[in-house]
Amino acid sequence: MSTPEAATRRLADLTWPEVADLAPRAVLVVPLGATEQHGPHLPLSVDTDVAVALAGRLTAARSHTLLAPAVPYGSSGEHAGFPGTLSVGQRAFELLVIELVRSADAFAGVLLVCGHGGNVVPLCRAVGRLRAEGRRVHSWLPSGRGDDSHAGRTETSAMLALRPDAVLMGAAEPGETTPLPELMPLLRTAGVVGVSPNGVLGDPTGASATEGEELVARWAADLVKAFDDHFGDLCDRGSARGYTSVVMSHIETVVGVPNGA
Ligand SMILES: [Zn+2]
Repeated sequence: MSTPEAATRRLADLTWPEVADLAPRAVLVVPLGATEQHGPHLPLSVDTDVAVALAGRLTAARSHTLLAPAVPYGSSGEHAGFPGTLSVGQRAFELLVIELVRSADAFAGVLLVCGHGGNVVPLCRAVGRLRAEGRRVHSWLPSGRGDDSHAGRTETSAMLALRPDAVLMGAAEPGETTPLPELMPLLRTAGVVGVSPNGVLGDPTGASATEGEELVARWAADLVKAFDDHFGDLCDRGSARGYTSVVMSHIETVVGVPNGA
């Protein structure tokens, strides 16, 4: 479905008349990240970096898309106690998404690419409300393993593929590897700091750039498929703005076992 015009188009680089021309046929792709601890070996930007990279791959692969600036703050209260974690909390994040998407009515639709599992609950609430208001919005989250949910092999491999210079492999060490569903009750009361003193949920020591590239490619393919499933009609027709979306959110199926929590 790629066309010669398919290349990442960044919203922030355009003028408003340019956007006015493109928006009725374009899906705004918004990376949603977080600024939170990712163990002793990864930067605070991991979830934002992953969301930006995947959103960039989608917008490079499909015309009828515009890449929005990322939201670098999310709901990261579970990582409180680790210096550097900045969180706006669930209610503020939900409201942020609602108002951001409402302000994007010029576009044919909005696709929210979420890199942080802790954003899922407020994100689902926001998407539900926006759909009830008649907006065409879909959210997507990369899938992950329950026993490797945070700063473990999955995220470390992804970062070795995307930003190897930002990874301190010499400092990588295992954290708590109990599967996330079993950890949840304690996580809710004690936070990550009460479960894993180094902030890692998983074991990053086997991570590799090769594994990371395979993972990122698989996530990107899944994201492109989600785009095609929910917005593919825009590539064949003109504007589809204004109708109520009844698509099921992929993200709703992974609530409870989020990746990158
Ligand atoms: Zn993460």
